[in-house]
Amino acid sequence: RGAHDGEVGKAQQAAAGAGTEPTIFSRIIARTVPATILYEDDKCLAFRDVAPQAPVHFLVIPKRPIPRLSCVEPQDAQLLGHLMVVAAHTAKAEGLEDGYRLVINDGKHGAQSVYHLHLHVLGGRQMGWPPG
Ligand code: IMP
Repeated sequence: RGAHDGEVGKAQQAAAGAGTEPTIFSRIIARTVPATILYEDDKCLAFRDVAPQAPVHFLVIPKRPIPRLSCVEPQDAQLLGHLMVVAAHTAKAEGLEDGYRLVINDGKHGAQSVYHLHLHVLGGRQMGWPPG
């Protein structure tokens, strides 16, 4: 496999068009693409990742399509805090009492592949450190 194969390669390709088009996550919000939804309110949605990297792996996204963390403004602070609170409550509902990990990938070096801000919540197994 070359350096640009696999998930990192896909993420690097996605970075080329970052933030210019609606993503698959807009379609999940609109219910035109199916997803296993764990939580929803007027500001955000939590749903299972289609390619789970742990026994429990779900995403928390704002309904407003902020492309990436590096785009956020000071006035987004309340929304970002809300996403973390929803992540924690949904993790509890998923039974992750031994802990879990939150990840936000930003841009090319962060290996972001979908340019609609999302928190990954991963749990149900022991995580390693440092991450790849
Ligand atoms: P990123 O690399 O941080 O941008 O993560 C994007 C995540 O979205 C990956 O973990 C993908 O598996 C996940 N994903 C992509 N398309 C879908 C989908 O249609 N439903 C659920 N998860 C998806």
